Amino acid sequence: MERLVIVSNRVPLPRQRGTQAGGLAVALRDVFGKAEGLWFGWSGEVTDQTSGELRFTRAGRMTYAVMDLGREDYERFYNGFSNACLWPLLHYRLGLLDFHREDYHGYMAVNRAMAAALKPLLRPWDRIWVHDYHLIPLGQELRKLGVENPIGFFLHTPFPPADLFESLPAHESLGECFASYDLVGLQTERDRRCFHGFVVRSLGGEVRADGKFEVFGRHSRMGAFGVGIDAAAFAELAAESGSGDETVRLKESLAGRQLAIGVDRLDFSKGLPSRFRAYGQLLERWPEHRSKVTYLQIAPHSRGEIAAYRTLRRELEQIAGRINGKHAEFDWQPLRYLNKALTRPVLAGFYRLSRIGLVTPLRDGMNLVAKEYVAAQPPQDPGVLILSRFAGAAESLTAALLVNPFDADSMADAMHAALVMPFEERHARWQAMMQQLKADGAAWWAHRFLATLDAASRDAHPLS
Ligand code: UDP
Repeated sequence: MERLVIVSNRVPLPRQRGTQAGGLAVALRDVFGKAEGLWFGWSGEVTDQTSGELRFTRAGRMTYAVMDLGREDYERFYNGFSNACLWPLLHYRLGLLDFHREDYHGYMAVNRAMAAALKPLLRPWDRIWVHDYHLIPLGQELRKLGVENPIGFFLHTPFPPADLFESLPAHESLGECFASYDLVGLQTERDRRCFHGFVVRSLGGEVRADGKFEVFGRHSRMGAFGVGIDAAAFAELAAESGSGDETVRLKESLAGRQLAIGVDRLDFSKGLPSRFRAYGQLLERWPEHRSKVTYLQIAPHSRGEIAAYRTLRRELEQIAGRINGKHAEFDWQPLRYLNKALTRPVLAGFYRLSRIGLVTPLRDGMNLVAKEYVAAQPPQDPGVLILSRFAGAAESLTAALLVNPFDADSMADAMHAALVMPFEERHARWQAMMQQLKADGAAWWAHRFLATLDAASRDAHPLS
């Protein structure tokens, strides 16, 4: 029987559901529910050596298979090449790129080890869907082992312009890895155009108007498939959580003030320093908002082993301290800054309570928080989404207040506009965005990707 095999760096085991703070886990969880499937990846555990031994968990028709990574592999593959090199590069941050050849070798070695561990689990009719930047070479490694099944790849991050990507010393060999897939999926049209440019200009390939491309003697296909969420389910969750303990406590603590909320992993791509500064400006330039608004920033720590993340953490603590030091009153703290993760149900209730959702990354593949914030709004009093034009979500959520996150002045303008925006405008913007969210939900995203993968692999292996 046909089965879907998902491969991703982290595997959201059933017992951990609900507490995951990653966009991929959330998007795929909404999709999987009914199908028979295998989900394969890293356990999140680090041991002495990568042994390739698997641990299995079964839940309904889903099987989860995970393997541990050895300490050195973890350092090179995860902290090194994936997160200190590829992540900044894919988010257009050349200045933060920290390339070491040994890290690249470690990255390739882990992909090889994962392919070797996955291969014996595969059946002839499986469709394989590989996710994200940690695993770009996985398809090529599977092909080397003789796997002929359809294999698709989806990149959850942005893809930068070819000139930037070429700064990566390994860009050609990594480029060759993409060609082993039957389908390469990107989040937005902009990412697809950049990837197109990379294939043609950097790799010397050819791309046709329908997305089919040929490079290194292999045929593949590319397309944009923006990740969505199950908006109706999230709206329900938010309505339920609206009367939950945490939301009630938060509401009481606000004492009638308006709430602005931001929810982001503590990551340099999320634009937190300039968002904080913009909020400081709001309080400077419009004194009437002082004591009338509270900004709650949830920012769970992430990747603390990497220097750039530690620097960012210190910077944010300083700016938050300055804003509160300057503006706080004995009964009002302007900025509440929390470095801990909250569960999705709690977040849903908090979004619903907030007049402003602040989603202002400098670059983001999609940003699911933006979509969740919209879905959580009560129709009788919807809040306003302030959204960076450089988040993938801005391609569809055009009715948000779109801002340039490099321009703190205009972000402060947008915050003011949101606080004084009349109900009619808030409602019209929210309704337009909600319609959009319902039209391209999580299930539709997976369906479109998989249908295109089927068509692409039929082209690659014609029946006749
Ligand atoms: N999230 C969560 N708890 C937190 C912070 C975030 O459950 O404390 C969830 C959030 O609801 C969203 C996901 O984590 O579904 C973050 O996805 P996004 O695309 O916004 O950013 P990423 O972390 O993938 O860069």
